[in-house]
Amino acid sequence: MRPFSYERASDVQRAVIGGRETRQGQTDAPVQFLAGGTTLIDLMKLDVLRPARVVDIKGLKAAHASIEATPQRLRLGALASMAATARHPGVLRDYPVIAESLQLAASAQLRNMATLGGNVLQRTRCPYYRDTSWAECNKRDPGSGCTALKSFNRNHAVLGVDDSCISQYPGDFAVALVALDAAVELTGPTGRRMIAFETLHRPPQGKPNVETTLMPGEVITAFEVPAGPWTRRSLYLKIRDRSSYEFALSSAAVALDLNGGAVRQARIGLGGMAYRPWRAKEAEALLVGRPLNEGNAMAAATAALAGARTHGGNDFKPELGRRTLVRALLQAAAMEA
Ligand code: FAD
Ligand code: SF4
Repeated sequence: MRPFSYERASDVQRAVIGGRETRQGQTDAPVQFLAGGTTLIDLMKLDVLRPARVVDIKGLKAAHASIEATPQRLRLGALASMAATARHPGVLRDYPVIAESLQLAASAQLRNMATLGGNVLQRTRCPYYRDTSWAECNKRDPGSGCTALKSFNRNHAVLGVDDSCISQYPGDFAVALVALDAAVELTGPTGRRMIAFETLHRPPQGKPNVETTLMPGEVITAFEVPAGPWTRRSLYLKIRDRSSYEFALSSAAVALDLNGGAVRQARIGLGGMAYRPWRAKEAEALLVGRPLNEGNAMAAATAALAGARTHGGNDFKPELGRRTLVRALLQAAAMEA
């Protein structure tokens, strides 16, 4: 690991000042915030992230780790741990898709350390990004090329990517957030702002090293999820190579409001398929007003994956994505809610 200077921020104002050069969305930012450290320290040890300065924001826990469930919304402090959020009674009862996306992620030890803010900003698991002996990686070294395009790309993205980078977004919690129309609260040098969670991660578009729309110095301070009649009938289905301690090959976050057997409203997020947690609005629209049977679920899943583009190793992914979504929809329809 390269030498770096370390400072602690005891409140959000100090974090914003300390982190004003974070260029947080960029992989080569000279300053990084340290929350749980479970992504950052790994990538610093691998020499992938090379910050000259690390600003420890664990001190923000006192003010930014609370979880509040009201009739209008769920508010999650960004410094709340994955474990504490997954076992919160209000989350378990009214937003099971969020609880499950966290319970099925990583390991118990990691979930105790890791925070929600750090979770949504975790980096891709593309092996060529994480191993600096591969020279070509536009995300790590802009302009160098993309090794994955012509090499092992079994777990790479099929939606929303271009030839500058085909890496997939690996997290689970973010898939639930995008399905439920969540917003992110950001605190930065010019104050506080809310953005739609869907706009936090940016597409590669030739610059995959710029991963988010965060402004310099901005800290994620909270997530807000609006309450809706669909949140109780919701679930997260994760398909992976082994049943524990593994990232998703494919996943679906599904929330349904049913009127008898017919769908009044549906919310669908897909994981493992795209450069970011992916909202499948075309699939949602196809379900409205129809009974949730296998045929209609497959029609929706086909629409969700219609734009898929594969690269050899991941040719199986669109079919896996469709089957994941069909199963998730039918399971959600059968839930007691
Ligand atoms: P950190 O490592 O502290 O930070 C990560 C990044 O976010 C850094 O760039 C940091 O500067 C930035 N950051 C952190 N907090 C903020 C903030 N509030 N505002 C602005 N920037 C911030 N995740 C899954 O979803 N599913 C899995 O199955 C899964 N499996 C895993 C298996 C292993 C072996 C490991 C090591 C990780 C796995 N993870 C998985 C990822 C894990 O969940 C993340 O590492 C963790 O959530 C990151 O949170 P953190 O608080 O430790 O972030
Ligand atoms: Fe790098 Fe993206 Fe290509 Fe992986 S897919 S090698 S992260 S540019």
